Amino acid sequence: MCGIAGILPADLSLLKKVLRILEHYVGSKGYCERGDRHLGAFKRYTGTGFLWISDGKVEFFKEAGLFVDEIYEKLPKGKMKKAKALLGHTRWPSSETLGAHPFFDCKGEIAIMHNGNAKEISPPGSHKYETKVDSERIAHYLEKKLTKKVRQDLNKLLAAIQEFIEGRSDEFGNLALVVKGVPAVFLAVAPHKYHSTLRVWQRPGGIAFSTYKYAELFETMAEQQRWRKFNEKVNAVLRKAGFTPLGTVRDRTCLAITLDLQIVEPKGITSLA
Ligand SMILES: [Zn+2]
Repeated sequence: MCGIAGILPADLSLLKKVLRILEHYVGSKGYCERGDRHLGAFKRYTGTGFLWISDGKVEFFKEAGLFVDEIYEKLPKGKMKKAKALLGHTRWPSSETLGAHPFFDCKGEIAIMHNGNAKEISPPGSHKYETKVDSERIAHYLEKKLTKKVRQDLNKLLAAIQEFIEGRSDEFGNLALVVKGVPAVFLAVAPHKYHSTLRVWQRPGGIAFSTYKYAELFETMAEQQRWRKFNEKVNAVLRKAGFTPLGTVRDRTCLAITLDLQIVEPKGITSLA
């Protein structure tokens, strides 16, 4: 598990609040707090990262082995505050590999934050990998698929991402994606082993999204309660900041949140339900 959240335009203090919930339930702190992962040695496999779009540039700050509060001290907050979109990720490593999201393609033009299993993906050709984290493969896989022509047209981009997410397995999970030069954040959701999805909220002049759970799909009452509580906590923090829910991204669909706060779905597809 991992947690992904974002706010347009940037609201760093609010994103921090959401990420701290995600970190405990589905991210780096939760991983370290598990009974068999209490040893300090495992913390290095966790990680926190931020990604933002500012003046048309895609920038990021990430570090493996750090929790939200630890990385927060180091962030270039002045630069981040002006961003039109700000995303955060907390990592629950599914394998003992070092790394933190976002990950980029070879040219540094496609940035992804992922929650799930991407081992099914093997990009053709040779690529410049930063880590051995399987999620990184997604950025490299998409670098050829999202051609120059596709990147110039939001609808073509959505169609290409829709085609990608439709073809994914039942454990691929959720993806937030940013493409250099494209004024939008893309969300794409496939089924996830631990029933994660992405939910979207809005307030006047703002849109937010976060990892969310299909609590009712868990087997035991205790698990269902735990994940309902998680959802309620995320809801409560955003509600207090003036956000109301818009909907949840349906499995095997995608959407774009443009920097001028429009939600655009692929043609003929209702992705937000
Ligand atoms: Zn590559």
